[in-house]
Amino acid sequence: MRNTITILGNPYDVIYQKGLTDVGDNTVHGVINFTDRKVLVNLDSPPFIQRETVLHEVIHGILHHSGLVEIIESETDEAIVRAITSGLSVLGLHNAITKGNDE
Ligand SMILES: [Zn+2]
Repeated sequence: MRNTITILGNPYDVIYQKGLTDVGDNTVHGVINFTDRKVLVNLDSPPFIQRETVLHEVIHGILHHSGLVEIIESETDEAIVRAITSGLSVLGLHNAITKGNDE
């Protein structure tokens, strides 16, 4: 499954793949690559996690492209992203942003 999402005017391919890991070879739910303009989502994660992951990575993208990430520490960045993701998921935005793979 592949689609495109635009983050502050920047198109990103959203790509679902099995066995997704980070640079440290740890299994992760998702990754955003600002250079390649890709959001990678782990197809092994449960569908609701996949949807939240897309939202989570998009929020990382918003902080990156807005320049806000330049003025905050990476741990703070992650904490902000998690808080906003949780808040918006309660509103159902994670379902609006992507159809996920369980439909
Ligand atoms: Zn994150």
